[in-house]
Order: sequence, then structure tokens, then C-alpha cells
Amino acid sequence: MNYYSYENILSDAKKLQKEYFGLIECETIGYSVQKRKIIMLMLGCGYKKIFLTAGIHGRESINPKLLMKLLEYYAGIYYETALFSKYSFCIIPLVNPDGYTKALTDCTMADYKLNYNGVDINRNFPSVHYRSGGTGGGYAASEPETRALIMAFKSHPSVMYIDFHSRGECIYYYRKAMGDEYNKKQLAIAEKIAESSGYVTVPPEDEINEGDTGGNSVHYYSETFKMPAFTIETAPDDTLFPMDISLADEAFDKLKNLLYKTVSAIDKKDIYSYNQ
Ligand SMILES: [Zn+2]
Repeated sequence: MNYYSYENILSDAKKLQKEYFGLIECETIGYSVQKRKIIMLMLGCGYKKIFLTAGIHGRESINPKLLMKLLEYYAGIYYETALFSKYSFCIIPLVNPDGYTKALTDCTMADYKLNYNGVDINRNFPSVHYRSGGTGGGYAASEPETRALIMAFKSHPSVMYIDFHSRGECIYYYRKAMGDEYNKKQLAIAEKIAESSGYVTVPPEDEINEGDTGGNSVHYYSETFKMPAFTIETAPDDTLFPMDISLADEAFDKLKNLLYKTVSAIDKKDIYSYNQ
């Protein structure tokens, strides 16, 4: 099957940096358990930063490609859009390169979600609902991939975070651990994302499935930085693993206005006023 490898991501990152010299920069934010680089591509020079991450779960293999496509698309229109001069985008296309490579290259492991140590990175972040054991790891932030993302957040103060997963074309916005005011604003932005993509918002009671634990990267971000954070799930609910890479193009078609629409929404003080 045709796929987009870890090496393809690194070479596309280099190519885009060259093509958009001065507009796109690349930094290594850490290394996976198997010592693969975790890269972050920074687009633009605005002082308000928005984080986008993908590939926290190995098998959700269309989202690294989706983020690289969004990066290229927005690099192309960055200077045409006055609004973007205030914003820049910190894009981490692949947080879990070991799990991704395992799911892509070993046909018996196509539904592998975890990192090399068998930990679910998206249950490993220090948050109110974090529980150790199971797939959450022995303790919060035990994994190098988790720590790389935490360090990136801490060294680049930001105004918003979107994490991409693949389970049914929907948007998670509700945070049980946060107050009503925070959730009201979350919903207002989530509705804009839904409007621009055709994806649906997930009801508050479905934020965390029964028996599941917290420790998602978005939980950590919301609770720590008090800024809006969303999970966007790409691809239809019944998509099988390994995922067909052409689904990345379908997701791109639906989500290509995402950044423009969200930035327009958060730029209006009546929808969300930041602590600036
Ligand atoms: Zn996922």
C-alpha cells in the first residue's frame, strides 16, 4: 500500500523550508524512544502562536500528511491574508514517529497506537484525570514524546492548540476539569470549526469514554495554560487500518479553511478575549 513515511515527512519539511525560506523554520523538539527526531515546523512570524499536532497515535497515519498539506497551503497564502500577520503556527506533524513507523511498516501491527514502550502518549500527560497503569504509563510524562511536547508548549507561549486524531469526523471541545466560562468559549470556537469543516461537535458527556482515563495532550494544555484546545477527529468512523493515504486529501478538502476560520473567530474579542 502507498504510504507517507517518517522519512517522507523529514524530506518534505526540508523542501518546504527551502521553498519558503524565512517563512517556515524547523526545529527538533525532542527524540522518540528509538531516537527518531520529533520536528516542529514554524510558519509565520506573528506573536500569537497556535499549536497543531498529529501522529500521537501511531496508526492514525493520515494526519501527518494532512498537517504537511495544511502547512504548504497556508505558506502559499500567508502574505495574502492580513489577519495572519498577528499569528504564527507551530506544527508538529508527527509526535510518535516510532509507533507510526511500526504501524506503517509491519503489516501485523497496522492498528498499533502506542509508542515504542507500549505507552499511549495521549494518556500520559499530567492532567486532573490522569491515571497511572494501563496504557497511561507508570507516571505522567514518563515518555520522551510527551516531554518533548510539554517542553515545546512551555518554550513557545501560545493562544490555542489543536490535536488531530482519526475517529469519526468530529470535534472534542468540552473539558470537565474546567469552568463554565472556559467551556462556553470552547463551544463558540468549536462551532466555527464545525461550520467550516462539516464535522460535528461531540456532546460534553462523551468527553471521556466510560472506563477510560484522562491524560490527553489537550487536557494538559487546557488545564495548564487555560487557553482553548481541541481534538479534531478526521476520517469516517468505520475507517480500517492501515488507513488509505488518499483519506488525507479528503480530510484536507474539508479542513483547508480551518485555520483561516478559527483565527478569524478568535480574533474577534466578543468570541474570545485572551489574556494579552
Ligand atoms: Zn488517536
